[in-house]
Amino acid sequence: MELENISGNTYYFSGSTCIGMYREGKKVTLVDTGIDDNKIRKIFNYLNEESLFIENVIITHSHADHAGGNDFLQKRGFTRFFSSEMEAFILKHPDFFPYILFGSSYPEFLNTKFIVPSKTEHVYPVSSLKNFTILEFEGHSFQMVVLKTMDNIVFLADTMFSEKILEKHPIPFHIDTEKYLDAMVKASDIDADGYLISHGGYYKTISDLKKINVGAVEKIQELIEKNLPETIENIYSLVLKELNIQIKEPWEYFLNRVPFLAIVKNLEKNRRIFMESKENKIFLKIK
Ligand SMILES: [Zn+2]
Repeated sequence: MELENISGNTYYFSGSTCIGMYREGKKVTLVDTGIDDNKIRKIFNYLNEESLFIENVIITHSHADHAGGNDFLQKRGFTRFFSSEMEAFILKHPDFFPYILFGSSYPEFLNTKFIVPSKTEHVYPVSSLKNFTILEFEGHSFQMVVLKTMDNIVFLADTMFSEKILEKHPIPFHIDTEKYLDAMVKASDIDADGYLISHGGYYKTISDLKKINVGAVEKIQELIEKNLPETIENIYSLVLKELNIQIKEPWEYFLNRVPFLAIVKNLEKNRRIFMESKENKIFLKIK
């Protein structure tokens, strides 16, 4: 973990989930807290040593790898978390996410730090913060917060992923494919001097990255379409196999299934495929 200065008062702590920082004198606003206590503890200690203190924490969205460190701060009496309305709801009710993945009350294996964020008691509206231009993007999550600092740097959260991350996780997580792709277009239209991607770091420009991210979705769409007709379960297994994804833990099966189903839904919405029930199975067929 290293603190990198992007421009002026805008910084980030590098790592598997980058954590943004905006400094005003001795006060800092952090953007996200990482997956568990580890990184936020190091940041907390570092800021203490530098006689800086955390005034606000913006949580871009309620995914566990962005909000898993909230508990560490709460245990030290910190309460000034900010997010959008939907993400705040999930942060206050973190069981909601594994419920979505499983479709009902969920087995214990989904109760992992990779899935469930810290239960966060106080989450205030991010729109009340004055020093940032706040945007809300749907698609990756319900209402992800994207923000621009006074230094004209945009924190894009999980709007896009680095090429390396996409190689490791070839089905990029999202819940609505159309909105997820649309958010990438919106991100490219923002006038900014640079962009911080949570899983990827700092980029001066994002047009190449956008193409790679759109390509990742198109590849899955093509894999589905060229292997139809098939049952929805079989086509999911086939997509995993074709993308060299090894499901090692059961939770990975349910996590990857969400963006797979989002892409299926988008193909159905665009009338490229349709769904049919036969022999108690759901078949996907080309329209
Ligand atoms: Zn995310």
